[in-house]
Amino acid sequence: MSYGANFSIDISEPTLKAITQAYIQVSRMLLSDFFQTVVKRFADYFMELKTKPFYCGRCGNREEFIWKTREGKLTEVLTLFGIVPPCVKEVFCLQMSHT
Ligand SMILES: [Zn+2]
Repeated sequence: MSYGANFSIDISEPTLKAITQAYIQVSRMLLSDFFQTVVKRFADYFMELKTKPFYCGRCGNREEFIWKTREGKLTEVLTLFGIVPPCVKEVFCLQMSHT
């Protein structure tokens, strides 16, 4: 996948302090956007796969899921990758109709 970012912030004056503060602001925006974009892009790809790289912790289903909270928070999206265990909370298991 490829990633591109476009941020816009105001820098009031060309001082070391103002430029440093602006840089810190941009780096925070970039970090947040980068993680969310990359993770969501892969999550979209995984949801298109017939057999998912994750499974339902209750019935073992690996194929039939739908998005429960499509625009979830980053921590919720990360559950897809097992970073926040133990279960996949933002997709709805269609096999047994449970979450
Ligand atoms: Zn299930």
